[in-house]
Amino acid sequence: MKQPAEAEPEILDLRELQPDAAPAGKVYTTRSGIQGPREGAPRMMDLLRRDEEIWDLFTRKEECERCDRDRFGGFPYYKSRHRDVCVPRASQMLMEHGFRCEYPEAQPFAICLTHDIDTVYQPLHSKGFEIVKALKEGNLPRAGRIIPQLRSKKLPAWNFKEILELEESHGACSSFYFLALEKEERECAYAIEDLEQEVCMLQDRGWEVGLHGGCKAYCDQEKLQREKRHLETVLNRNVTGYRNHYLRFQVPETWELLKEAGFLYDTTLGYPDCVGFRNGMCHPFRPFNPNTGQEMDILEIPLVVMDRTLLLHMRLSPEQAWDQMERLLNTTEQHHGVITVLWHNEFMTDASFQFYRKILEYGRDRGAWMTGGREITAWWKKNGLRAPPAQ
Ligand SMILES: [Zn+2]
Repeated sequence: MKQPAEAEPEILDLRELQPDAAPAGKVYTTRSGIQGPREGAPRMMDLLRRDEEIWDLFTRKEECERCDRDRFGGFPYYKSRHRDVCVPRASQMLMEHGFRCEYPEAQPFAICLTHDIDTVYQPLHSKGFEIVKALKEGNLPRAGRIIPQLRSKKLPAWNFKEILELEESHGACSSFYFLALEKEERECAYAIEDLEQEVCMLQDRGWEVGLHGGCKAYCDQEKLQREKRHLETVLNRNVTGYRNHYLRFQVPETWELLKEAGFLYDTTLGYPDCVGFRNGMCHPFRPFNPNTGQEMDILEIPLVVMDRTLLLHMRLSPEQAWDQMERLLNTTEQHHGVITVLWHNEFMTDASFQFYRKILEYGRDRGAWMTGGREITAWWKKNGLRAPPAQ
């Protein structure tokens, strides 16, 4: 819905202001683009605070208070008190009170497409194992597809160009998050220097290259900054987008570390074991830090669907998985929101590749804006979630 034409709002940097110190009667905008109220209209944070349950969900109160983790260090849905994970309750409340957002060329909603690059080499023995498994299942076409991959350990996960071209053919673009670990680190699956050509190709074609922080980066400023510098040296460009490996995240400290390190956005906040809206938002948002009582100067683009979660962890049939995906896409469209999808490069084979293609086809048919985190962040800074006009 279009706002009535009006004079350019005065832009204030809210970082110096207390949360409730927005000057009355002025429109303000934060660095992340969330717009404040016209006179008489509620601010986003004040509105959410009116409902204690929604406020606790939005601020992830249970995660601040408890340090329950799964064996990979993520905060899983099964340890949460949160049950209606497919209902974006906080976004719903904002929409009901007149908050609106628009996308370029009046596209109704956005699909934020992302890829975490955990591995690029597949060893010979694991391909041999997969061939035997396919033969045992009588799946000859699958065995036939794997056999040619035996000639190079780069097959099939060294597939950046294929992913890019698939997205390009659907009018989409995306973000790739690469690990930038030192060779001696335990979880180092590849040296980022070996991928210089690939990351530069992605960057030159307009795709985003962001950092996939290693296991410790979410809680260790020094490691985080070292990994960021490492990737930037290979890219010869600033890196501003982030997601942590295994979705490790500490609310609210990781946001503070990311902001200090110079990131503009994070997109880690999703449950590893269940799809849905982890803090009730189907829109990007500026997180609230309960330790300081202030909003943080970084944007969170919450993660909603991860390939492994939907296709493996939730134990759904392919039909059920698509129904679930369609419901989440629909819900996001109804709220004019952003749905973030994570598809690993090593998941771009067989049925999971077809599933990803189906998401792209769906997005194209619905006129969705399909892009990466950097573009969403830039757009959000200028436009964001607009407060309702004054009564
Ligand atoms: Zn990862």
